[in-house]
Amino acid sequence: MLTTAPSNVLVTGAAGYIGTTLLRRLLADGARVIALDHLERGHADQLPREVPLIVGDVRDPDAVRQALRLFDRPPDACIHLAGLIQVGESTLFPQMYRDVNAVGTQVVADLCLEAGVPALVMASSAAVLRPLAGIADRLDEDAPVGPESPYGSSKLSGEHTLRAAAELGRMSTVALRLFNVAGAAYGLAERHDPETHLIPLALRAAAGELPPLHMFGDDFPTPDGTCLRDYVHVRDVVEAFVRAARLAMQQTASGACEFQVFHVGTGHGYSVLEVIRACEQVLGKPVPRAMHGRRPGDVAALVANPDKLASVLGIHPDLDLLRVVRDAAQALGLLDG
Ligand code: UDP
Repeated sequence: MLTTAPSNVLVTGAAGYIGTTLLRRLLADGARVIALDHLERGHADQLPREVPLIVGDVRDPDAVRQALRLFDRPPDACIHLAGLIQVGESTLFPQMYRDVNAVGTQVVADLCLEAGVPALVMASSAAVLRPLAGIADRLDEDAPVGPESPYGSSKLSGEHTLRAAAELGRMSTVALRLFNVAGAAYGLAERHDPETHLIPLALRAAAGELPPLHMFGDDFPTPDGTCLRDYVHVRDVVEAFVRAARLAMQQTASGACEFQVFHVGTGHGYSVLEVIRACEQVLGKPVPRAMHGRRPGDVAALVANPDKLASVLGIHPDLDLLRVVRDAAQALGLLDG
């Protein structure tokens, strides 16, 4: 049974889409939170006022130490979200991805160990997995890894760092392999700069805020030829981070430090065309679009097996794609009321 909630938490990459949502969730629990973010791609204006912010890079040990020192005692947990997240960009700048995602995670893990932090949870990705030949298969935590992209490789390297850190026996670590995080909570819209994600691009194209959507390929071995992805509500994702931190704290307290992996998805795959139709239904407008070639690094299908997420962390993700899209549209200010 998971009982003790983390009451002091360091969040890296706190100014991003998941981070700003997670901060609200932690504050709702009464936690004291410190944010670390270099603000190059994040949203300072969406950080809650009561959360102290260290502006710095996770590759900079001084910045991470400075954030850790703001706590009176070692924080209960560090939730490490800082990183670069675009598969396509990673194929153009592989070294940059290795540097930020792999080196950054190593620095955070080393300094959490040094400071005596008992729990470290990182945002990993479904991109670490080797794509399966059968698109009907749902990927569980034992599925073979074998990233297709430099992004996936950099996240896998972060997972290796967390495994090695747990083996030292002083800190438990968790990698949450996020599938396609979507929707919105606390009124915080998904706004990446540049935006590359399907749902906000499709919604904003329909609203006339952005040019027509480029569809990246319709020749994949899927029922309608477009890629299948597992869209998981950001509300469920932040809950997974909180519960994973709690689990890691308990494991360390019990003297049995472990590294654990969870797949954070719904278990249901939707095609790009199905997502576009959901956007059209929610907004009552067509999504203007044009067919493009495949985007480098994209695989035909990535769908989670969420059984471990449910059985160990007690999370049963929202299965309603229309609700995910409606929440996204609402937060983007594209729906009345
Ligand atoms: N996609 C697309 N056009 C876009 C952005 C995304 O067709 O402008 C497709 C992409 O090829 C993938 C799916 O939408 O199959 C989800 O992509 P996204 O970038 O949202 O997330 P990813 O799966 O890359 O993490």
